[in-house]
Amino acid sequence: MQKEVIIIGNGIAGVTLAVLLQRKGISFALLHRKGEKRPFGLGETLPPSAMPLLQQLQLLSLFEENAYRKTYGYHSMWGSSRVTDINFYHQNPFKNGLKINKHQTLEKMRDLIREDMISYTKGFEIINEAHGSTVVLAKNDGIKIVQGKILIDATGRNRAVLQKLKIDSETHDELVAVSCHVPKIKHPKLTHEVYVESFAQGWGIVSALNETENICTIYTQKGHEILAELKDVSQWKSVLSETVYFKDFLGATENVKLKGGNANSSVAKQISGSNWLALGDAAMSFDPLSSHGITNAIFTAARASETIDKKLTEADPDAFAAYNETMRKIFQQYLQSKNNLYRQELRWKKSEFWKRFFE
Ligand SMILES: Cc1cc2nc3c(=O)[nH]c(=O)nc-3n(C[C@H](O)[C@H](O)[C@H](O)COP(=O)(O)OP(=O)(O)OC[C@H]3O[C@@H](n4cnc5c(N)ncnc54)[C@H](O)[C@@H]3O)c2cc1C
Repeated sequence: MQKEVIIIGNGIAGVTLAVLLQRKGISFALLHRKGEKRPFGLGETLPPSAMPLLQQLQLLSLFEENAYRKTYGYHSMWGSSRVTDINFYHQNPFKNGLKINKHQTLEKMRDLIREDMISYTKGFEIINEAHGSTVVLAKNDGIKIVQGKILIDATGRNRAVLQKLKIDSETHDELVAVSCHVPKIKHPKLTHEVYVESFAQGWGIVSALNETENICTIYTQKGHEILAELKDVSQWKSVLSETVYFKDFLGATENVKLKGGNANSSVAKQISGSNWLALGDAAMSFDPLSSHGITNAIFTAARASETIDKKLTEADPDAFAAYNETMRKIFQQYLQSKNNLYRQELRWKKSEFWKRFFE
């Protein structure tokens, strides 16, 4: 099978790129692992600033139609024990964000490109051929051979392609997340369905996942002693007893599933090479405090589709290097604003979790 582009990974970044390449008439194959389980819902929120990007890419109605709901603001208790009400009413041109249903949105987008998706069960191998093309062997019981000019890593924090290309990452912190889905509770003192609260050992966010469930996520540092207690959801209420409102969201804990994982800021040391590009979390992973992970996946996919177009149609030799430079600049700006945000919380400057932002 011969294609211009081989994409590996079928999350928001990989699938968005596939849809954009299809519109440009650039051939691609999207490789993904067969029979992946439906991922644990993270209840991601898109801020109003993401709406113009979706509109520009003609993806806004698809995202809106498959979202759980529009969001008009959020509450936060960060830096003081006062609740701040951040209202999107003053944002322009969109006065709302979206609480997305990632699974449903992805399925709708995959429907557009399904005939160009190839699954594999036993991993993949990359072979760079002398005449500049890349061959990917997708291994099932047999082997499917896909040949392309450009290879894309869209495998999220796994960075599966980058690992095979021996490209390292820079890790900027050790933030980890533990999430659980709990029965929905509407807090009498909060109007918006997203609430952030910091506390001595980290911070938490609770938001509506759907009509019946909330998702609660606690962020702390890898190795922190509260992680052992957070592994048992029945202990959350006592671990979070010092929080002001967060603890009120922890109702019944029977049959509640927990999910943990990395949520740290990291960036690939190289985001593109002569015939490959990384997108989304594979390129740079953001702290969920930024609420910009999905926007980054969509933005990098949009920039990658333009970059690929330039390389294929204009034979622009600098296109891939410029992509690397732009993304690394964006990451530096992001790091600065993320650290500034953490430094606004002065109440626990000496605690294990917060002190690193002040050292
Ligand atoms: C707890 C938490 C809360 C978050 N909240 C928000 C939020 O509110 N707003 C927001 O914008 N962002 C949020 N994010 C970030 C957001 O979820 C990610 O940034 C975004 O999903 C990244 O998309 P992606 O396509 O790059 O990667 P992923 O969504 O990770 O997709 C990668 C795909 O590649 C596949 N894959 C992995 N390895 C391989 C392999 N070896 N071979 C083939 N396929 C592979 C995976 O199965 C997956 O389908 C949150 C993240 C976390 C952890």
